[in-house]
Amino acid sequence: MKAFCSRKVYSFRVNSKNVCRAGERAEYGNVKKVVNIGDVKIGGEYPAAVQTMSNLPTTDVKAVVRQAHSCRDEGCRIFRVAVYDAASAEALGAIKKSVKMPIVADIHFDYRLGVAAAKNGADKLRINPGNMPKEGLRILARTAKEYGIPVRVGVNGGSLEKKYATTARGVSGEEISANSGEEISANSGMCLEAGVKNSGNQDMRGISRAEALVNSALDGAGLLEGEGLSDIVVSLKSSAAAETVAAYRLAGRLCGYPLHIGVTEAGSPDYGIIKSAAAAGALLLDGIGDTIRVSLTADPVSETRAAVKILRAVGLDRNYAEVIACPKCGRCVHDTEGFVRTVENFTADVKTPLKIAVMGCAVNGPGEAAESDIGIAFGGSGAAIFKYGRVYKTVPTEEAEREFLREIEALKMR
Ligand code: SF4
Repeated sequence: MKAFCSRKVYSFRVNSKNVCRAGERAEYGNVKKVVNIGDVKIGGEYPAAVQTMSNLPTTDVKAVVRQAHSCRDEGCRIFRVAVYDAASAEALGAIKKSVKMPIVADIHFDYRLGVAAAKNGADKLRINPGNMPKEGLRILARTAKEYGIPVRVGVNGGSLEKKYATTARGVSGEEISANSGEEISANSGMCLEAGVKNSGNQDMRGISRAEALVNSALDGAGLLEGEGLSDIVVSLKSSAAAETVAAYRLAGRLCGYPLHIGVTEAGSPDYGIIKSAAAAGALLLDGIGDTIRVSLTADPVSETRAAVKILRAVGLDRNYAEVIACPKCGRCVHDTEGFVRTVENFTADVKTPLKIAVMGCAVNGPGEAAESDIGIAFGGSGAAIFKYGRVYKTVPTEEAEREFLREIEALKMR
C-alpha cells in the first residue's frame, strides 16, 4: 500500500540560531490522494467541497434532516453529525435515508460508537487521536476498511495528544530529533526562538503547536495505515488563524492525504467568519484545502454560506453572480448601498459566472463597469449601462435601477 504521509515530519530540531529545521523535503508536494466520501470525491484535482456539522441533537432526526436540506440548498456537500451514544448512532441511519448528501459520524472517546455508525451507514468517520486509545483507533481503521469508508484524522489544538501537547509547551523536547535539512521560514509561524513567546502561536521552547498538530495528525494517519486503511483525510485545526495556516502549510508539503481545512471554534459569525476567511483564504490561495468547514457559534446554514463565500472570494467557485460595487465617497450621486443589496438579492439564483458592477459616479464607474459582463455607472443626470465593455445605453436616473435589473434579467435568461 502506498503510504501518503511523510513520516519524516518528525525530524524537527532547533538549530544554533534557534530556527526549526525540517529533516526532509516534501515527498508528496502536489500529489494528493483522491478519497470518496459517499458520492463526493475530494483530493486530487477535485474542487474543494463545503461541509458543515449539525448543531442539533442527532436523535432529533426530523430536525436534523430539515437542517441538512437547508445546508444542501446553500451549497453544502458533506454533512456531519455527532455520534455520542447508541441512540445517536442509530439515528444516523435514519438521517441517511432522507438526506442525499454524505453523512459523516463525529466520534470521540469510544470506538464502539464509530463501529455502530459504520454499521448504520456513515459515509465517513471523524476521529480525534487526542481522545481515543490507540487500540480503539486500530479497531476503527479495520472497521472503516471493512465498510469501505474513509476516516478523518481530526487533530484539534484544544485536545492534542498528551505527548504532543507536552512537547508543544516545550517541556520535553524529546520528540525533536537532530537532523539537517530544509529551513522553514520564521514568518510561517512554525519556528520559534527559545524563551520568546511570539503572537500566541508559538510556545516558549520546543516545537511550535503547529508542528505538534502536524506530528499528531501524521502519527494518527500512520496508525490507520498500519491497519491497511489508506482512505484518510487529515485536519489540523487551531483556534488561531496563524497557527492553523502554519500547520496546514507544513502538512500540505508533507502529507498526500486530502486536507480538511478550517479554524476551529472561530467564534460568533461577526468575528468567526473573518478569522476563518483569513486562514482558509490564505491556504486556498496557496492551493491547500480539499474540503472546508467554517466553525461558527451559529447554525450550520450560516457556516455553509460563509464557506461558499470564501471559495468564491478566492476564485475557486465562479458559478455565481459577483457584484462589484464602489465603496462610496463624497462624489457618489446615487444610493448604491441600497441598490447593491437589491442586485445581490436579484441575482442570488444565478449559477453561472456573471460579473456585475454597480458604481456611484463617473470617476472609476465606467472603468469598472466596462470590465464586467454588465455594469452601471451613475452620473449627474442619468446612468450609463455597460455590457461586455461597451456602453449599451444611457438612461435617466429615475429609470436606471429598473432598467438595469431588466437587462440583468435578460442576461440570466440567455
Ligand atoms: S466610484 Fe465614484 S463614488 Fe464610488 S468610490 Fe469611486 S469615486 Fe467615489
